[in-house]
Amino acid sequence: MAQSSLPQILLSLLRPRLPDMLDTLRELTLLESPSLEKEPADRCCGFLANQWMLRGALVEVLKQKHRGSHLRAVWPPSASRANGQFLVLGHYDTVYPTGTLARMPFRIASGNAFGPGTFDMKAGIVQALFALEALQQSKIPFRKRIVFLWTSDEEIGSGSSRSRIETDARRSDAVFVVEPSLGPRGLLKTSRKGVGEAQLIVHGRASHAGLTPERGVNAIHELAAQIARIEKWNNLRRGVTINADIIEGGTRSNVIADRAKATLDLRAWRVSDMRSLEKRLHSLKPVHRGAKLEIHGGFDHPPMERKLAAALLARARSLGRQMGLSLGEAAAGGGSDGNFTAALGVPTLDGLGAVGDGAHSVHEHIFINTMPQRAALLAALLATS
Ligand SMILES: [Zn+2]
Repeated sequence: MAQSSLPQILLSLLRPRLPDMLDTLRELTLLESPSLEKEPADRCCGFLANQWMLRGALVEVLKQKHRGSHLRAVWPPSASRANGQFLVLGHYDTVYPTGTLARMPFRIASGNAFGPGTFDMKAGIVQALFALEALQQSKIPFRKRIVFLWTSDEEIGSGSSRSRIETDARRSDAVFVVEPSLGPRGLLKTSRKGVGEAQLIVHGRASHAGLTPERGVNAIHELAAQIARIEKWNNLRRGVTINADIIEGGTRSNVIADRAKATLDLRAWRVSDMRSLEKRLHSLKPVHRGAKLEIHGGFDHPPMERKLAAALLARARSLGRQMGLSLGEAAAGGGSDGNFTAALGVPTLDGLGAVGDGAHSVHEHIFINTMPQRAALLAALLATS
């Protein structure tokens, strides 16, 4: 009989753990953890800290003033023999305020586990926990130190976690992001668009629209002209988009508006496109005499370019095949914390978490049967990369 390969050994350790994985997922989902509510988020972080401590990891709770604590867990706990580092990255915060469970309870039905944050991305965290456990049981020597970093504010832009993520990414040879995969076949995410937000504020001059129109400078007219200009910068083929998604301005219908503002969504696949879009935006000049422009913001997530994922994807595919799993890849128009790590030039593979559907919606769920496989895939990547 052919010898079992490493991924097969890991999968055989993980299959019987499915009921415990689901119990852990249930507990983690019942600990609601909205990004904007510190106390419940801290409780959720405490639960995770305990789970990693139970597995013998060195656990650090990184307290935050306004957000939930971030959790950093290291295996093996002593760094002496480790040669390099892997970062397993994810977030435990969700977009659902506390009380969401009342109308969206955790439940298991027809092979799916439903509940707020199950797919994005608590099941991914659970899979990482059991991946660590399987590696410990398999007695495979650890080639590198593994750092698990679970943050509390990804859904609101990672303001309090970004520098910690970047510090650990810089020390790492690769980053594995356990954000949800894409589609029913669980595609890995090998590129993500850079994402940004900018404000375009126009200052005009107010005047009576009937008595002294010549004294006014209409900020709304100016803003409209600027929006017509930047609309032409969209290039769907290259994946460059700029959209005015919120506008405001003016006071009354007979007052020439002295102020108007547009909030712009910015996206691009390539770093070069990101830079040129920002440059164009910040060099806009007024069209109407007397109008002034004020421009703030830009890209907060640089693009995650595919070249940083290519080698890791090839490895994941080969490991997947050894478990009978055929893995595809996808590009995502939205950003994640993987954008930060890839932008530092650190190889990053994203979408290694749950398989399911309905992120940020009432029918958010994961496919239960895929949990052991995805955990085995992550464990195999950590053991062999
Ligand atoms: Zn997420």
